[in-house]
Amino acid sequence: MNALSAMPIPIQVISENKRNLLDLDRKGLAEFFVSIGEKPFRAQQIFKWVHQRGITDFALMTDLSKALRERLPSLCEIKAPEIAKEQCSLDGTRKWLLRLDSGNYIETVFIPEKKRGTLCVSSQVGCALNCTFCSTATQGFNRNLTVSEIIGQVWQAVMRLRAIGEDKECTVTNVVMMGMGEPLLNFEPVNIALAIMRDELAYALPRRRVTLSTSGIVPNIDRLSREADVSLAVSLHAPNDLLRNVLVPINKKYPISVLMDACRRFAMDKPGRHITMEYVMLQGVNDKPEHARQLIKILQGVPCKVNLIPFNPFKGASYQRSLKEDIEVFRSIVVKGGFITTVRKTRGEDIDAACGQLVGQIIDRTKRNARFVAKIADTEEIRSESYA
Ligand code: SAH
Repeated sequence: MNALSAMPIPIQVISENKRNLLDLDRKGLAEFFVSIGEKPFRAQQIFKWVHQRGITDFALMTDLSKALRERLPSLCEIKAPEIAKEQCSLDGTRKWLLRLDSGNYIETVFIPEKKRGTLCVSSQVGCALNCTFCSTATQGFNRNLTVSEIIGQVWQAVMRLRAIGEDKECTVTNVVMMGMGEPLLNFEPVNIALAIMRDELAYALPRRRVTLSTSGIVPNIDRLSREADVSLAVSLHAPNDLLRNVLVPINKKYPISVLMDACRRFAMDKPGRHITMEYVMLQGVNDKPEHARQLIKILQGVPCKVNLIPFNPFKGASYQRSLKEDIEVFRSIVVKGGFITTVRKTRGEDIDAACGQLVGQIIDRTKRNARFVAKIADTEEIRSESYA
């Protein structure tokens, strides 16, 4: 016996490699079960337990064999980000702060209406794009979310609303990928999470009720069209490149004409479905009648409707919300141009849960947050000096 073979055999620490089953769609889950020598149909059973019944304890999954129930905890787990804080707005909107690893937090918002409940889901920790009117941008960027962190937001919301149970109608009927981050810059995990949202054995949301919003990552709009079956919203916000380059800087890479071509292709692949063009209303910046007329021109031949979003202010923002009457004039011009145009109702403003107000808490890797905080401090100093 040599010295090496006399050494104790290290015990494999399986727990560190445990597969989080929330990271898998039904296909991935079936592959997982095959890889551990089980039948692929176990995926269907687990999917229902986890996503429909909210059960994460394998011991309670009574249609699995006892042996399998006992074996699974050593191989895998079911883990969603935990709710660190819940805030409820006067209008019923709820905002959850969800704890991720090492000091990062994201936000998810639930907006109840008479006949639907919309969940606004985040796709990244912060955002790498630097849209000048969005507070998430001021936070900088840390990383992409994993599938379990994306679908985990839906899982937590559904389970929490069920637990509150104050109103049976109060549940998630719609999901919008309009929280923190740019979903098309985190394509694969977002795509898998979308598949789980749509899966009839999970949340069974119809494609019209799952909307991905993008600032316009053109190649991935095409990819989305090929690989997913969901609705599309585009953060347009400006009717010409000069202005959009400032408001949505990714426009320098994918200018309006290229973006509109991608939208036409998307609509062609999904006949009968309209893209939503989001347009934030910034006083004196993009809200004049001439902007409305330019908007009609660039939207020609794009099957779409327009959603005007009154700007939601945040600390340090350099913009103001357009006046109600200016929004109305803008809207009527676009309507006359032949486009259905709605004005988004601002919800959850009292708890900073409205569009563009989500910030979470992130370990910024871009230093953008530090620069922003310094800028606010500067302006506050200037302000207090001028009052002195
Ligand atoms: N990155 C994606 C997903 C974020 S969606 C995208 O850009 O589409 C968030 C939506 O709210 C977008 O339409 C965004 O442009 C809009 N928004 C951002 N900041 C806002 C603010 N301060 N007021 C109103 N809407 C805002």
